[in-house]
Amino acid sequence: MSPATYPIPQSRTLAESLAGVRCGESLSRETACQFLGSTDEFLPQLLEAARSAKERFKPGIITYSRKVFLPLTNLCRDYCGYCVFRKDPGDAGAHTMTPDEVLKVAHQGEALGCTEALFSLGDKPELLFPKMRETLRHLGYQSTLQYLEAMCDLVLRETRLLPHPNPGLLSAPWIRRLAAVSPSMGLMLESTNADLLASGRAHDNAPDKLPAKRLRVIDEAGKQKVPFTTGLLIGIGESLDDRVDTLLAIRALHEKYGHVQEVIVQNFRVKPGIPMQHWQEPALGDMLRTVAVARLLMPNMNIQAPPNLSAPFYDELLEAGINDWGGVSPLTPDFINPEKPWPHLEQLRQQTESRGFKLEQRLPVYPEFLPLVEARPGLVADRVRAASDSRGYSRRAA
Ligand code: SF4
Repeated sequence: MSPATYPIPQSRTLAESLAGVRCGESLSRETACQFLGSTDEFLPQLLEAARSAKERFKPGIITYSRKVFLPLTNLCRDYCGYCVFRKDPGDAGAHTMTPDEVLKVAHQGEALGCTEALFSLGDKPELLFPKMRETLRHLGYQSTLQYLEAMCDLVLRETRLLPHPNPGLLSAPWIRRLAAVSPSMGLMLESTNADLLASGRAHDNAPDKLPAKRLRVIDEAGKQKVPFTTGLLIGIGESLDDRVDTLLAIRALHEKYGHVQEVIVQNFRVKPGIPMQHWQEPALGDMLRTVAVARLLMPNMNIQAPPNLSAPFYDELLEAGINDWGGVSPLTPDFINPEKPWPHLEQLRQQTESRGFKLEQRLPVYPEFLPLVEARPGLVADRVRAASDSRGYSRRAA
């Protein structure tokens, strides 16, 4: 997608608007849209303002979470046009992990200093596939969420890893149940544009991607004070205005409950064999503008962008105001983007330091959200206390 051009208001140039934001004015929706559509000449000023805002929020530090990626099942009832992860039963590579497989990977990750067990999986595949119902029955469970809950509990009890489930839509009772076995959880909002579910578009045949349903989940997590990860996916057919509206919707939920611990700005990447394989990927400049606008709209929130999806130039994201690289694994691949390996941690550290920052290893819960978890009764709070240092970062060295 090429950035649209937004008319600059007669009364004020973009540079003047940016100067106002730098002096503490809040960024309006209209100006945010104009920043997203701005020219390459304006980009350095925009980045400079975003990096300064990040430095006022968390000076000198960039974080990441050392994780293992556990694709509990890659069966999914949705068919997103950009997804190479999902499978139907019988497809090559279709797989539901056994408890032994989960534990084996978790123990291997533990030995490598990981502190996060990211459970990423398809959304309620048993509703569509009898084969998944049979698999779950065989394992002793009635639903994928029940199985996920048991596997989070297993990892929590048997290892020092902290589970972070990312299972798709969740009801209020399921948020409560998963919060008893994991300190934080996540659901990408992706976009507030419901037209993406129209025929031939990215969320055609993906009923769980209806924005209203996803906003309800984030709202409910807020009511339950669960540290929550969400974000937007750019380059899937949304407009620049949609991106701003998505960021504003996330910000509004955080202002209501104070529970959105990180906002991920993720860029669509082409993969062979997906329905969107001939789409144009967002350019790096488009990604930098979006990250910068996210930072300026949410100066005091954690903004993350995955390094592997912007490699080899990912260090430039540091100039756009991110303060976190997300989960990076020394062990398991990015099953969602298998063609884009995570950088080696030593390289990540070097790139981060080359831009003037120190790399810190955090837990799946950000330091400032630990009190929400420590207030819960039970094992989750105990495990989080044991895993964090006095500043709320991981006890293990980066
Ligand atoms: S992106 Fe998620 S919900 Fe969509 S098809 Fe892939 S696994 Fe399913």
